[in-house]
Amino acid sequence: MIWSEVETWSRGQVEELQLERLKKIVKTVYAGNAAYRKKMDDANLKPEDIQSLSDIQKFPFTTKQDMRDNYPFGMFCVPKKQLLRIHASSGTTGKPTVVGYTKNDLEMWAECVARLAAAGGATEDDIAQICFGYGMFTGALGLHKGLERLGAAIVPSSSGNTQKQLLYMKDFECSLLVATPSYALRIAEVAQEMGLDPKKDLHIKTALLGSELMTEAMRTEMKHVWGEDLQVTQNYGMSELIGPGVSGECLELNGMHINEDHFLCEIIDPKTGEVMPAGEKGELVVTTLTKEGIPLIRYRTRDITRLFYEPCACGRTSARMENMSGRTDDMLKIRGVNIFPSQIEEILLNSEICGPHYEIVVTRKNHSDALDINVEVAADKMTDSFKELAAAEADLKAKLKTTLGIAAPVHLVSANTLQRFEGKAKRIIDKREEDR
Ligand SMILES: [Zn+2]
Repeated sequence: MIWSEVETWSRGQVEELQLERLKKIVKTVYAGNAAYRKKMDDANLKPEDIQSLSDIQKFPFTTKQDMRDNYPFGMFCVPKKQLLRIHASSGTTGKPTVVGYTKNDLEMWAECVARLAAAGGATEDDIAQICFGYGMFTGALGLHKGLERLGAAIVPSSSGNTQKQLLYMKDFECSLLVATPSYALRIAEVAQEMGLDPKKDLHIKTALLGSELMTEAMRTEMKHVWGEDLQVTQNYGMSELIGPGVSGECLELNGMHINEDHFLCEIIDPKTGEVMPAGEKGELVVTTLTKEGIPLIRYRTRDITRLFYEPCACGRTSARMENMSGRTDDMLKIRGVNIFPSQIEEILLNSEICGPHYEIVVTRKNHSDALDINVEVAADKMTDSFKELAAAEADLKAKLKTTLGIAAPVHLVSANTLQRFEGKAKRIIDKREEDR
């Protein structure tokens, strides 16, 4: 179902609205926020310099560092009195980044998520179990409000206590699951441990996954455990931009449709900051076109993708972003070679013997980076044959060498021995700092 008519507008209609909104938001931040005014004055820019959409390219970027430097409310554009909600993203290093929502922001957020949920197959008939952690994290309340707007019934079970999750899921006959891809797999695993078959004993038909990257191999694994008919899509957002709601996959599974009337997207070369030619891959930069609490001009997301504009078979004409291939922050530089963990995941999950749980350990030995990969054997492929395991490890190592160009030993470990996560999975253990 297409939720909003805007999703089928012509390029001309979309760009006309985007330009009108862009002019307004630049005027707003210049008048209402000292940090933005200083940046624009330093670059010798005035709001009137926006005459076309491409004029945005003259403007300086906004980064996570700007948000930290102006902690907590320095990037806000409205008096505190107008805020209805405050969220923060847990900074693993330094201060958290804080975002605030006005009444209109909350409305827009629910509308954007409702569109993406509908694109992913959610309907008003669904009973939606939200297994994202509620709290300062934007994921849970974002999906909650969007699905509520769609008319679904919400089961706000949050994350954790997986056996209890399964009790609700089974007894309430929940039909829609919201979780991270890794937690969705974990829930299925616990179900099996409890003697339940997720395909027969549970009723999940639709999974809206987000908050961590999902590779195609992971999607295949989801269908393998939850059922081949499962509608499984991912959606994209980040708390700085709004939370979930920036873009999401439709059931054609060919990129994530962008809510272009609210978010203006560009792709830049992460090294030079130059805008890339149309269709090329680079870092996603987003300008929020309607946000009032904390509008962002040219926010550097650190996520790597490309944009494409061909209309989709689903009937939507909105531009799409390719499913993320990684974050510049997650990119590992091993002996001078750039590696995305998603590349390693694809190889592991495409192999018969590996289950979906793995970890990448980076160390520094004798002044050289070393990569070790620990991966669980799939539960139905467990073996006592040392010869068989050694052959499988050698095969995986060779595949990694061919794809990544570096040698990395792979260690197959027993099923159910690596750590499990109820939110974002931590796949990378980088010990280089402590080894130095
Ligand atoms: Zn589509």
